[in-house]
Amino acid sequence: MAEGFEAAGLYYNPNIQPSREFRRRLETLREYAAEAGLSLIEAGPYRPDEHLGATLPVWDDRASRCRTCYELRLERTAREAVARGFDAFTTTLLVSPYQLHEEVRRAGERAAAAGAGGAAVFLYRDFRPGWRETLEASREMGLYRQPYCGCLWSEVERYERARP
Ligand code: SF4
Repeated sequence: MAEGFEAAGLYYNPNIQPSREFRRRLETLREYAAEAGLSLIEAGPYRPDEHLGATLPVWDDRASRCRTCYELRLERTAREAVARGFDAFTTTLLVSPYQLHEEVRRAGERAAAAGAGGAAVFLYRDFRPGWRETLEASREMGLYRQPYCGCLWSEVERYERARP
């Protein structure tokens, strides 16, 4: 938006488990969007089976699992962008220091070619320098922050590996 784009947010997260966490993040985004003046598209209904079906064969290989997850989400984003007349799409995954950044970039580029058929471009930016700012802003706004990435396996990695 700071670069002059007219932006909208898309919430498509079949990767989030369980449904209570999916709903909590959606409600947080609604709260943020209302405050920030961001129009929000909710790509429902909640279909965790879409993510489970795609990632189950590679669940224990983090790189393959996350690559599959990025592709699933960004292809849908690309299709929504074209269907709704947007010229470009991007992803908040690019702000996270915990994601496989280059894999996200490649998945976005593939989605522009495959999911959008070239009708919408993938807007790549390295948003990671803004990561700390997001922490401060969300704290100031009193917003919920996710304690793990989203899928069942990331929840296990976050809590079980931290145990003695
Ligand atoms: S860890 Fe995150 S990016 Fe990787 S598969 Fe799970 S939800 Fe997707």
